[in-house]
Amino acid sequence: MKLGQAGRSKEELFLEMEKVKEHDIKWKEGKAFSLVFNGGQELSDVIKDAYCMFFSENGLNPSAFPSLKKFENEVVGMTASLLSGGENAAGSMTSGGTESILMAIKTAREWAKVNKPHIKEPELVMPISAHPAFNKGGHYFGVKVIAVPTRDDYRADVTAMKEAITDNTILLVGSAPSYPQGVIDPIEELSLLALDNKILMHVDACVGGIVLPFYRKLGIELPKFDFELEGVTSMSVDLHKYGYAAKGASVVLYKTKELRRHQFFVTTDWPGGMYGSPSVLGTRPGGAIAAAWAIMNYLGEEGYLKLIGQIRETTMEFKRRIALTPEIELAGNPDMSVLCLISNTVDIFQVGDCMAARGWHLDMQQAPNSLHLTVSAAHKDTIDEFFKDLAEAAIEVKGIGNKISGIKTTMAKGLLKTMPKNMVSKMIKKEGQNVGVSDKRPEKMAPMYGMMAAITDNSDRETLVKDALDNLFSPRL
Ligand SMILES: *Cc1c(COP(=O)(O)O)cnc(C)c1O
Repeated sequence: MKLGQAGRSKEELFLEMEKVKEHDIKWKEGKAFSLVFNGGQELSDVIKDAYCMFFSENGLNPSAFPSLKKFENEVVGMTASLLSGGENAAGSMTSGGTESILMAIKTAREWAKVNKPHIKEPELVMPISAHPAFNKGGHYFGVKVIAVPTRDDYRADVTAMKEAITDNTILLVGSAPSYPQGVIDPIEELSLLALDNKILMHVDACVGGIVLPFYRKLGIELPKFDFELEGVTSMSVDLHKYGYAAKGASVVLYKTKELRRHQFFVTTDWPGGMYGSPSVLGTRPGGAIAAAWAIMNYLGEEGYLKLIGQIRETTMEFKRRIALTPEIELAGNPDMSVLCLISNTVDIFQVGDCMAARGWHLDMQQAPNSLHLTVSAAHKDTIDEFFKDLAEAAIEVKGIGNKISGIKTTMAKGLLKTMPKNMVSKMIKKEGQNVGVSDKRPEKMAPMYGMMAAITDNSDRETLVKDALDNLFSPRL
């Protein structure tokens, strides 16, 4: 597609945007369980107004915008205070959980250069359940990632992680809670392990950092997971998730200001001037910073307590009803509001497709094959419809469905053993092409996910995902 010769009217454009939006997931109707954290109209009005008010301002240079400097420092302070950040705690606002995690890894690498100069090939040790942002960070910053299988309850296996520590280890990672199954790793034991080995320890509280402190205030007993533990040296907390801020807002926190200095990037000989930057981004959208500040102050402790109390109740109701739904089970014993659905009797991916046909959006996960649910406040109004559809979907798949993707999966398993490699990759390409070819969302994901689960060769899996990315992001030339 080429840039149009003449411009188009605003009315026409907005009509078109409304129209293409029709195919997006129906998060406003409480039908999405990932990607959008919906706190309702009232909260979204607050963040929209705040975002627009600081729409043009740039967090790149806070001395030019004392407003943003105030907002960021207060947001970091409020977040640290929820997580036992002491007097020397410090942090930065970032664009999201990924950037927060990238920064923690970069900081650990720079810290190790000073404090463990013998290390030439740094490693981090994490449970396999830790977010891919750690793999990405390791990849970007040259830190080798050692991903250790979890225990049967999906929590980090401390003994196995201990065994994975070498002379090159600089950082341990635990999640509170993990994204795939929503369980809190044994952070206290991991933090002791970090202290014993004189290495750093990052707690990924991207999804839990705002919720868990309020669960405690609601009287729910939780294991220690934050800076109250001596060995925890950094944390990531997404405000654009359960903080109900606008997208583009997360916080990375450090136990001390000294540690945070390793995060900063400075270059002093550029003709454009001295350049100091705290994090990955250069230009930083002022709107995201202002909206985070606005929502935290708008809600206050009482507002979050009420909202998170609702999330907790809705989650309990989900758990109760899942236990009553034939064919479907909860994986593990989730500590928060992040749930994982599995089945021993039906193809859970096909259940996901049947739910998608009914307008629901649930992410598909592997090892074990499962559907992912992040429960938000707005879901309390759709709970009846959800479980009616889930029960129907399970019955439908039990009746006919298993056969279809079952055949594909068995075929894939058998064929992959005997087929020449180039044919395997052709077959994979074809599956990958089914994703992202039209303006609509793909109708069926189960065949691709089923096949992925059957493919054991990691380079084949990578090819499939890269094909899908190629298709999703095909420029219209
Ligand atoms: C969402 C999430 C991340 C990544 O955050 P983004 O904002 O998507 O970059 C990392 N860890 C956990 C546990 C998460 O839930």
